[in-house]
Amino acid sequence: MTKFEIRGLRADVLIGEDERREILKGVDLTINSGETHAIMGPNGSGKSTLAYAIAGHPRYEITDGEVLLDGENILDMSVDERARAGVFLAMQYPVEVPGVSMSNFLRSSVTAVRGEAPKLRQFSKELQGAMKDLSIDPAFAARGVNEGFSGGEKKRHEILQLELLKPKVAILDETDSGLDVDALKVVSEGVNRAKENNDLGVMLITHYTRILNYVKPDHVHVFANGRIAESGGSELADTLEAEGYERFVKAGA
Ligand code: ADP
Ligand code: MG
Ligand code: MG
Repeated sequence: MTKFEIRGLRADVLIGEDERREILKGVDLTINSGETHAIMGPNGSGKSTLAYAIAGHPRYEITDGEVLLDGENILDMSVDERARAGVFLAMQYPVEVPGVSMSNFLRSSVTAVRGEAPKLRQFSKELQGAMKDLSIDPAFAARGVNEGFSGGEKKRHEILQLELLKPKVAILDETDSGLDVDALKVVSEGVNRAKENNDLGVMLITHYTRILNYVKPDHVHVFANGRIAESGGSELADTLEAEGYERFVKAGA
């Protein structure tokens, strides 16, 4: 049983030498293992900033609050330590690392997180199995990380990492954006497997209710103006789809 708690989190984006802007304005959220929390909100409200701030991106500075994983403040940890502690981020825009093969990259990541290198043969088997589960062509293992991948292929590979790294908490930032229905199903099944097998807690940042038909949220939160403006059950997602975010944007302006 894992408890992931975001408490009073405030963060600035560092724009230039001495320019900064507060984006996160006091975020409170608790995710228990096995729970899925959908975060929905207008563009520019700070959803990706929340994901990056938790993961430890250097462009964002935490000014207040804490993020506790089973009582330990991960904000005191290095980026690597956060990953090792079991926090995983699937980025909205996965980065390309030309020249580094997917299989080498994944083996390094797994080594870093598990604290020891998996045996090559065992890892190959594991990788092949996970790729098969996600309907990824085995040829991708030899390609450069995300190099020339389509949007949907990048997203599938984020979930491949999730399957191999077996984190305790996963933050999925618009992992469903740009996926066709088949890819959406494959990606959702991957998330659901991780929930079942590893009792994963999920923060699912999304613009669309369609992924929520496959990955059932226990809670839905509206994110506006750098904080959670309202929380509810899955019915809240339907309300948002019908009515939009106008009410929240106006309320917070
Ligand atoms: P969302 O993911 O909800 O669309 P973001 O977290 O990406 O929102 O962005 C929140 C706000 O922070 C936006 O107004 C965006 O322009 C601003 N922002 C994010 N990163 C930077 C940056 N590197 N430089 C300047 N502004 C930024
Ligand atoms: Mg956005
Ligand atoms: Mg975003």
